[in-house]
Amino acid sequence: MKRGTERFFYFLTFLFQGSSFLNPRAYALMHRMHHEYSDTEKDPHPPHLVKDIWRLMLRTRDIYSDFVSRRVLPENQFDGDYPEWPALDSFGNRWSVRIGFGVLYIVLYCFFVEEWWLFFLLPIHFLMGPIHGAIVNWCGHKYGYANYNNEDKSKNTFPIELFLMGELFQNNHHKFPKKGNFAVRWFEFDPTWPIIKLLDWCGVIRLKT
Ligand SMILES: [Zn+2]
Repeated sequence: MKRGTERFFYFLTFLFQGSSFLNPRAYALMHRMHHEYSDTEKDPHPPHLVKDIWRLMLRTRDIYSDFVSRRVLPENQFDGDYPEWPALDSFGNRWSVRIGFGVLYIVLYCFFVEEWWLFFLLPIHFLMGPIHGAIVNWCGHKYGYANYNNEDKSKNTFPIELFLMGELFQNNHHKFPKKGNFAVRWFEFDPTWPIIKLLDWCGVIRLKT
């Protein structure tokens, strides 16, 4: 991406993640660690080494917070080559901003929701980022089939992955981490891939491979 485009999408990331905004640098560092140390003690989120999905989320949160606060510095091999916007990162990480987004969601619900029980969906909106991460990291290394022996427990959770925009093709993704298309076999489909191709075709991004 060009610098201006990157900033535009960085801002959209903040806007749409809202109450559960995730710092892109910390996210990138954890993701690189996950690839290097998949399903071992040094993996930030190994579902087979924790008791339940809740503990997986807490473990991930602790490592995430260490990177955000810079209490812990990453290994050199994982550092650099990620987008950074320190002012927006610290603004999005403020409790007042997170709670402000939460209040906005409640207001929107009050305007648009017609059934009272739908308000029970609010916590999912408050925590959309971590919940999405927990589903991908839990299910993607537990349920489904493997096309490749990656010497970890990564799986392809097909066809549920269709609801997660292809992110549950973990086994394929660990085998080919730099490929934009997570689908490999004839029946597999990664819904994000056509969007990436379209952005490339329009010149918004430039694919390297
Ligand atoms: Zn994985």
